[in-house]
Amino acid sequence: MVLFADVVYHGKSGLVDVSPGIYWERVYAVLSPLHRNVPGATSCPKVGVAGFNLGGGFGAQTNQYGLAIDAIRSIEVVVPTGQILTVCESGENSDLFWALKGGGNNFGIVTKWSMATHEQGGINSWVLQFKAEYFNDFIKAILDYQEKQVVISNVEAFFEFTHDGSATVAIASTELFYDSPNEQAALQLFNAFFAIPHTVVNHTQTWMDRHRALPRDHQTFRVGLPRKQDDLPPFRGRFSCAMTSRYTEALIRKGLKEAEKYAHFLRTHDGLQIYIDIWPFNPKMYDHSKDAAWPHRAGAPNGPLVINFKWRNPADDDFWMGKVRATTNALRDEAIKQGVATPKTPVYYNLALDGTPARSIYQENTDRLISIRDKYDPRKTMNRTGGFRV
Ligand SMILES: Cc1cc2nc3c(=O)[nH]c(=O)nc-3n(C[C@H](O)[C@H](O)[C@H](O)COP(=O)(O)OP(=O)(O)OC[C@H]3O[C@@H](n4cnc5c(N)ncnc54)[C@H](O)[C@@H]3O)c2cc1C
Repeated sequence: MVLFADVVYHGKSGLVDVSPGIYWERVYAVLSPLHRNVPGATSCPKVGVAGFNLGGGFGAQTNQYGLAIDAIRSIEVVVPTGQILTVCESGENSDLFWALKGGGNNFGIVTKWSMATHEQGGINSWVLQFKAEYFNDFIKAILDYQEKQVVISNVEAFFEFTHDGSATVAIASTELFYDSPNEQAALQLFNAFFAIPHTVVNHTQTWMDRHRALPRDHQTFRVGLPRKQDDLPPFRGRFSCAMTSRYTEALIRKGLKEAEKYAHFLRTHDGLQIYIDIWPFNPKMYDHSKDAAWPHRAGAPNGPLVINFKWRNPADDDFWMGKVRATTNALRDEAIKQGVATPKTPVYYNLALDGTPARSIYQENTDRLISIRDKYDPRKTMNRTGGFRV
């Protein structure tokens, strides 16, 4: 899809047309000089527009604008019968528009998204690191931040384990994002984090500077892993997630315990890194969301606790995949036990483990998606691709 690379901003409507063959960094490079933005991917430079927009899209501005799919206004798609359709909220193909917002690659090949933009001013973003001896304080700071419920902010908090050849190294890091140039207000909001002994990895004050300061692909801000993509040894890896409406101390501690438990195998099974990413969203995160294939609605916050394992040797795939699944199940069960998820909480498509049934992702929307699939793809052509099939 690399030939589909246009990003076109329409000043009158405030809409931007984005193409599927590019990374989000390209979209930001076009919009930033115009002081506009979209709620795209914000965690590393090379997350693609296509998969992100097909599956949902959580980013640093989700608390304010919802998911990427909430900003989509129309979609150009080639359906398996060969027709090229432009679909939106109204009109005869509004069912397909709904289905493509989170429905993955079940319905055709998308060639363009038209998305609403918003004004983007100055920001404050800090990346801080903490030694393992401060993990308890770090957990308290995460919970303190969650209570404050400031919509124009975002926190991602990582507990990370690696092996440096002789010992397991544990470290925590966080990105504290405040969508305003008011540095004093930001420092006030994040004061519990700053009160812990820490190292400042960076502080950026424009959207593009923040983006340029991101760690390279598949890396975190942790000191020790090389920052340059070329330096990273080839590795295997898998993302997964457990969904939660909010964080309890017990859920965070369970995540830390799981990661710590398997960190012991980093040395014996050629492991590279294990981290969990605590991502406390605001209860208002879906207040402006529209009905979509991936179930999310106002008053029902639900976001991923992200799990990431990396290892080196394909011979260890089965071993490590077993640990990823065990961690995922343990955290899902803990979230249910804590009352911050139920067995029917929709799993996030873009961080779901392979083998996750489509019904666990789409829940009450599954049957409607199947009938839309039958209408636009009667011969099930898209079933020949990878992904979660309805
Ligand atoms: C390092 C990293 C960080 C991440 N951070 C986040 C995050 O912060 N928030 C978040 O929500 N997710 C995050 N993710 C998950 C991410 O959303 C998914 O991996 C997503 O699929 C990436 O999109 P892509 O276009 O790069 O992927 P691809 O692998 O290129 O595509 C994903 C799927 O979509 C299909 N597809 C691609 N193009 C089209 C098209 N034009 N029409 C129809 N189907 C198509 C592909 O066949 C494939 O099945 C992250 C992933 C990584 C690897």
